[in-house]
Amino acid sequence: MDISVIIPVYNEEDNIQLLFDRLTKVISSITNSYELIFVNDGSKDRSLTLVDELSQRHNQVKYIDFSRNFGHQIAVTAGLDYSIGKAVVIIDADLQDPPELIIDMYSKLNEGYDVVYAKRKSRKGESIFKRTTAKVFYRILSKITSVDIPVDTGDFRIISRNIVDLLKQMPEQNKYLRGQISWLGFNQTYLEYERQERNAGETGYPF
Ligand code: UDP
Ligand code: MG
Repeated sequence: MDISVIIPVYNEEDNIQLLFDRLTKVISSITNSYELIFVNDGSKDRSLTLVDELSQRHNQVKYIDFSRNFGHQIAVTAGLDYSIGKAVVIIDADLQDPPELIIDMYSKLNEGYDVVYAKRKSRKGESIFKRTTAKVFYRILSKITSVDIPVDTGDFRIISRNIVDLLKQMPEQNKYLRGQISWLGFNQTYLEYERQERNAGETGYPF
């Protein structure tokens, strides 16, 4: 398996089809050996039904269905545990992370990097409140940790199997994946992109 894509899903019924279409177009231009792992994190809308239908029609689509809402980081972690690809992409379901960037992220990885994360040049559709609290959070975080955790990034990234296997060995119960990945070291780099607004639906992180 060349590529696994992990997609945490919480109430994303209006994004799943478009995400699937764009992801499939992008990934199948790279390889036919891939899997799309949706992790339904206790959605209350039709997300699960849609993902289940996709999985019946397409062999590449797999999913994990949580018994309730556990939160984004736990959803991604479950996806990592089940993934088998040599390279693993983590991407949001709402199309704020453009699937098309995966092409360049994958080439960069193959230049010999272990992690290629996506850095936001702009943050469209985010309130001043969110941008300010994010800024303060990262400022405090960099003061209290000795690890450089890149600012203006989310979990949108591609990581090598080596990194996935090491993450699986880390015992943290409260996951902060982007921090843990920075902590691991190895060769990490980034690509910049314009962060779009959500395609549809609402943030799972309201006030
Ligand atoms: N998400 C999740 N569980 C949650 C909240 C969010 O799996 O409890 C998913 C969500 O469906 C999306 C990603 O995590 O794919 C990022 O969430 P969101 O877009 O709501 O966060 P924001 O972009 O507003 O920071
Ligand atoms: Mg979002």
